[in-house]
Amino acid sequence: MPAEQLKKKIEVPDTCPHCGNKLSPWQQVLLATDRALVCKKCWYRIILDLIPKAKNRFN
Ligand SMILES: [Zn+2]
Repeated sequence: MPAEQLKKKIEVPDTCPHCGNKLSPWQQVLLATDRALVCKKCWYRIILDLIPKAKNRFN
């Protein structure tokens, strides 16, 4: 499956949920593929499965 289709199928954030750093299209592809990506700015580990529950995770 082409990366672009994969990206649209899975909801991939275009910014880091921790620091708001904008993710490059390539980083979004990596995130969609691996379901995890380390933000280069704050080193927060973005895990795709946890994004909708992120607020609870910070408690
Ligand atoms: Zn970040």
